[in-house]
Amino acid sequence: MSDEHIKDGLPPAGAEGEGPKRSHGRLSARPVLRPRDLFDDARAVRGAWQARVITLFPQAFPGVLEQSLTGKAMDLGLWRLETYDLRGFGIGKHRNVDDTPAGGGAGMVLRADVVDAALNAASAGASLDRARWPVIYLSPRGRPFDQAMARRFAACEGITMLCGRFEGVDQRVLDHHAVEEVSLGDFVLTGGEIAAQAILDATVRLLPGVLGNAESIEEESHSNGLLEHPHYTRPPEWEGRAIPPVLLSGDHAKIAKWRRAEAERLTAERRPDLWARKTGA
Ligand code: SAH
Repeated sequence: MSDEHIKDGLPPAGAEGEGPKRSHGRLSARPVLRPRDLFDDARAVRGAWQARVITLFPQAFPGVLEQSLTGKAMDLGLWRLETYDLRGFGIGKHRNVDDTPAGGGAGMVLRADVVDAALNAASAGASLDRARWPVIYLSPRGRPFDQAMARRFAACEGITMLCGRFEGVDQRVLDHHAVEEVSLGDFVLTGGEIAAQAILDATVRLLPGVLGNAESIEEESHSNGLLEHPHYTRPPEWEGRAIPPVLLSGDHAKIAKWRRAEAERLTAERRPDLWARKTGA
């Protein structure tokens, strides 16, 4: 983590040990390969897309998001991440965050009052308009996350994410804060942290300037309702398998046609649901 933050006139991001909030924004002064222009710098510090994550495991962040493109984008100030340690909002000496489920049954439920305090802290300075700043709870009961949702989130000013643990969260606090439930898929994780990182990864890579080559977003799987065509690289022959000759022909129109046909074939074979939607069948 960098220790030098760009002085931008904003209130200092919550430093470690100063309460439950911790900033992972890494606006560092380390050298970059390409000179940045002043406009980029100004944009980075003023309007950067923000993720605020409420979790019992803040040490799990930025996790994999620190690597590669998402990590570089964080270094460049194209987005910033703040975690809110749910434990810090707990009750009493032991900072209790959970209790037994009303009506009985196994497991524990995160308390409404504790989650409410964390959501209130995380809303500071954020738009209260849910269309500009969604507040989501990672949940297997939520709407399944998809590329369209990633695009919607990337077009917002930021997002607040609540990671559940145990049996989940008291329903009243979700209703009270108009929290949107989003699922990573039809399976059950032990906590929301991995889902939050997956959703952040898919969203951050769509922010302007994060991917070098904008074309790769337009052609990839799920952006045009099709799965992507297969890829090949050197060597031209490997273990008796050759690269499809058309790809080595240099005929760009023919290559485009082949790729499109392969994308359609794969989609029809593997994802009849996507294919039906694409073809209106
Ligand atoms: N009792 C709940 C599951 C709780 S799992 C149920 O049956 O619906 C514990 C936490 O993991 C949840 O609160 C949620 O935040 C997270 N989680 C589990 N599966 C998930 C999924 N598919 N997508 C997103 N978050 C998930």
